[in-house]
Amino acid sequence: MNPLPLMPPRGARAAAAQTVHSTAHSTAHSHGAAPCAPLHFDARLLRRYDVGGPRYTSYPTALQFRDDFSVEDYARAAAQSKRTGKPLSLYVHVPFCDTVCFYCACTKIVTGNRAHAQAYVERLHAEIARQASLLGAGRALAQMHWGGGTPTFLSLEQIASLVDAIARQFVMASDDSAEYAIEIDPRSAGPASIRALRALGFNRLSIGVQDFDPRVQAAIHRIQPRALVEATLQAARSSGFRSVNFDLIYGLPYQTPESFSRTLDAVIEMAPDRLSVFSYAHLPQQFKMQRCLPDALPDGARKLELLQTIIARLSAAGYVYIGMDHFARPDDELARAQAAGTLQRNFQGYSTRADCDLIGVGMSSIGRVGDSYAQNAKTLKAYYDAIDAGGLAIARGVRLTDDDRLRRDVISRLMCHMALDFTAVEQMHGIDFVAYFANELGELADLAADGLVSLDARGLRVLPAGRLLVRVVAQVFDAYRQSAANARCAKVM
Ligand code: SF4
Repeated sequence: MNPLPLMPPRGARAAAAQTVHSTAHSTAHSHGAAPCAPLHFDARLLRRYDVGGPRYTSYPTALQFRDDFSVEDYARAAAQSKRTGKPLSLYVHVPFCDTVCFYCACTKIVTGNRAHAQAYVERLHAEIARQASLLGAGRALAQMHWGGGTPTFLSLEQIASLVDAIARQFVMASDDSAEYAIEIDPRSAGPASIRALRALGFNRLSIGVQDFDPRVQAAIHRIQPRALVEATLQAARSSGFRSVNFDLIYGLPYQTPESFSRTLDAVIEMAPDRLSVFSYAHLPQQFKMQRCLPDALPDGARKLELLQTIIARLSAAGYVYIGMDHFARPDDELARAQAAGTLQRNFQGYSTRADCDLIGVGMSSIGRVGDSYAQNAKTLKAYYDAIDAGGLAIARGVRLTDDDRLRRDVISRLMCHMALDFTAVEQMHGIDFVAYFANELGELADLAADGLVSLDARGLRVLPAGRLLVRVVAQVFDAYRQSAANARCAKVM
C-alpha cells in the first residue's frame, strides 16, 4: 500500500478530497470483482449522499421480515438444506452485558446477575439440538460466530459446555480450516480466558475498542485502558488466534481528528488483522441510553474529517479498505477473499465462506436457510417460553421471491466486489439485465453523472468516489427502499 500523497499532517484540517491507492492491481476496466480499487474521499459527495439506508447484511433486510413467517416455513427450508448436506454456519447470540455503553444500539440485556447465564445456556442447549435435528446432525461446521451482547458474560464452563454440544451435533474442524470467531470484552475476558477460548477451538477474536482516549471512554461509559487491550491481544497472538479484529467508532463525544489520530497511532502499533470502523448513529429517541452521552458530539463536518483521517492513516499503515467500514491487512483472509472474488456479505459484515446456510441460536438471532431468513423472539421471556414449549423460537422471517433472490445477488455483488457484470447476473438468473432493471439503470445515470459509478452495456463499476457510498448504489436495486421502515435507517456517514 502506498503512503497517501494527500494525507493531512497531524492536526491539520482534512482536505476536501483525496485518493488512496493500493499496490494491488486495480481492475479499473473490469466489471468482475474489483479488489483494492483506489478509494477517493470526496467530502462534497459524502455530504450530498448522506441519506438513510440499510447496510445490506441481508436482502431483504430485517425491516421486511414478517410475523406470518412460521416455524413450519422454517422447517421446510431446513429440510431442503438437509438434503444438500452442505457445510453450515452457526451464529450464537448472548444478549447479556455487565454494564452499558451509552452509545450502544445492540439488542442486549444489562445485568450484573450471573444467574441469568445458566438459564439462558440451558435454552441454547435445547435449541441447538432441535436445530441439528431439523438441518441434519453430522454436517460440517465451516463457520461459527458468537456475538452479543457480550458472549464472555457466560463462564468458560458454560461456553465449553455449549461448544461441546455443538461438536456433538456438527462436525467441527480440528485443523483450524474453519472460521470460529467470538466477540470479547477485554474488561471481562482476561488473558487466561483468551487462552481457554483458543483451546476450545475459537481461532478468530473480535475486540470492542472504540477509542483509547480516556475522556471519550468516560463519556461513553466504557473505561478500557490500552494496557488491557494489549494484554488481550498478546494472549490471542501467543495462543494462536489466526486473526484479531478491533472495533472502533467515530462520531463519539469529544472526538477530534487529532485525538482520534492518537487512538489510531496505538491501533496501528498493535496491528490487528482486521478493523471495523463504525460511524456512530445518534438516535436517542430509539436508544434511550444515548441520552446519557454529553452534549459534545462532533458535527457533520467534523465527522467527515474523522473519517478522512481514519482512511488516510489506515491506508498509509497498509490496510486494505474492504468496503462498508471494514479494513484488513492485505494478507488477511478477508482481503484475499475480496481479491479472489469470493467475498460474501453476511450478518457480521463480510465473510470469506461460501454461501453456507446459517443457523441462528439465541434471543433475537437471525438465520438464513435456503431461500428464507428467520429471526428468533426478541425478548428473553418470549424466547424462553418458545423453547420451553418444546419448539424453536422463530418469531418472524421472510421467504424470498425470485425477484428477492435476484436483487440479493445484485446487491451482494456490489457490496463485496464494487462491480456488476450484467452477463454473469443474466446467466445466473435467466433475465435480460437491461430490460429487467431499466428503471434502476435510469436512476443510476444520476450517480454516474456525479462520478460514483460508471456504466456501459456490459456492466457497472463503482468508481473510487463511490466506494464509501456503495450502499447508496446498492439501494437503487432495493425494491423495498421506499418503505417506511427503510426510511428510519441510520445515515450513510
Ligand atoms: S457495546 Fe457491547 S458491551 Fe457495550 S452495552 Fe453494547 S453490547 Fe454491551
